[in-house]
Amino acid sequence: MNEPIKQAPVGIDLGTTFSVIAYLNENGRPESVPNSEGDLLTHSVILFDDQDVIVGKEAAKAMASELELVAECPKRQIGQRVFDKQIAGRRYPPEALQGWILRKLKLDAVRTVGEFDQAVITVPAYFDEVRRKATQDSGFIAGIKVQDIINEPTSAAIAYGYLSGWLDQKGLAVEKTRFLVYDLGGGTFDVTIMEADGRDFKTIATDGDYQLGGRDWDQRLIDHVADAFCDANGFDPRENSEALGKLIRDCKDAKETLSTRSRASITCAFGNSTQRVEITREQFLRMTQDLLDRTDFTVRQTMKQANLKWTDIDRVLLVGGSTRMPAVVDMLHGLSGKAPDNSLSPDEAVAHGAAIRSAMLLDHYSDTIPIQSIRNVNSHSLGVVANEIETGLPQVVQLIPRNTPIPVNSRRIFRTHKADQESILVQIVEGESKNPADCSQIGRCTIWDLPEDLPIGTPIEVKFGYMENGRLTIKVKVGGEDRRAFRYELKRPNGLTQEQLESWRQYISSAET
Ligand code: ADP
Ligand code: MG
Repeated sequence: MNEPIKQAPVGIDLGTTFSVIAYLNENGRPESVPNSEGDLLTHSVILFDDQDVIVGKEAAKAMASELELVAECPKRQIGQRVFDKQIAGRRYPPEALQGWILRKLKLDAVRTVGEFDQAVITVPAYFDEVRRKATQDSGFIAGIKVQDIINEPTSAAIAYGYLSGWLDQKGLAVEKTRFLVYDLGGGTFDVTIMEADGRDFKTIATDGDYQLGGRDWDQRLIDHVADAFCDANGFDPRENSEALGKLIRDCKDAKETLSTRSRASITCAFGNSTQRVEITREQFLRMTQDLLDRTDFTVRQTMKQANLKWTDIDRVLLVGGSTRMPAVVDMLHGLSGKAPDNSLSPDEAVAHGAAIRSAMLLDHYSDTIPIQSIRNVNSHSLGVVANEIETGLPQVVQLIPRNTPIPVNSRRIFRTHKADQESILVQIVEGESKNPADCSQIGRCTIWDLPEDLPIGTPIEVKFGYMENGRLTIKVKVGGEDRRAFRYELKRPNGLTQEQLESWRQYISSAET
């Protein structure tokens, strides 16, 4: 067997719009690694260009001209069986698309970091078990051993704590600190309230508005400029894909300009007409106020769920590129009564925390950084489907309600319904509804090889649990007999089989030169 390589600690923020890979440098400081184009952020976009698969900036550029060849933001669809857009006649599972992104991050990083095969990958706190598993599978496809899957806000909190001195050199919280992480990215928004105490990082509550992000702010500018163009010229630049592509890029740039300057201008050219539109920060604020208000509402809701007052919160942390908008900082300052902490780069903090987490889990680093326990809650309730006695209709029986601190186990007794039964089938779901169809289907678990001659009604105890990382575990006991390991198989309706994973892994790595 090969000696395991003494690799540097590596963490990956596999983001919806941008992904970042970071490592812990020789001085124990997290550092983002530039990709082969020299950028710290890699667009989470994939272009299928004949035989070549291109990830990143060039793929994002191609969205303006060859949209049909581009898979954009696969993270939005992770957990589904296939990505809903067909590309050159082919449908890809989201895991494979995410695998390509991870693969690029890895290959580019090796040049700076040296060889590595292990990394920590982050996921949103609201990801259900299916999406966590699919993210882990993406890592496998990319040839990465996933040391841990941690929540993005937890990761950001670790980075803030470690770098701003409220965790000591050993990674322990100097004093109990409660914080609120406000993460506004390109396409999603979430809020998490956490507590750090010694080695414990505990999530208290998490919520979000998963269809809200920087692109909604872009859209307001796009419509503003296009409407002005229409008024002046009588036709709409949004109807032409090339003109629209350019408008999208220019409006995003203008939005980012307005974070540092008080005015910006956008020029829209289409047909033989050109329209220049000036916009001030105040105007922009007015046209997007309702979007900001939505985040304000979610923050208040989360505080309510956590049963906390603002005086109970020690710090407000800003994560996600869109928190660079001054209006976000002002709103949070007004709401919380304290200046939000933006001492770290908001688009890198998540990856940096993951690199620190990676160090905690690497044996050859354990002297430098001790392991911290990260206590999360499950963001969705776990249940099994059972037929209701009176109606015979399938119904969800809840086993572990949402927001329960994990790890956690719950057991349920099933009974054989005929003599000599050889197997039983358990359907496992996540969600808040009684109706199985409204829940996320984790899968069907078949328990095989039950002992022979079991009388009808024999109790079969199935223990379901969540591990620290939110992944599911299953244990089975039959007739009170617990030391036997019963074989079971969990079939995931949307997951890839081990053979499919292997074959995607082969496929993606064979394309490299
Ligand atoms: P995600 O977590 O969704 O992958 P990021 O946290 O990297 O993404 O955030 C990307 C978003 O941040 C984009 O919508 C981008 O326009 C926005 N953004 C980046 N810099 C700025 C800025 N200076 N002002 C306003 N928005 C910005
Ligand atoms: Mg993000």
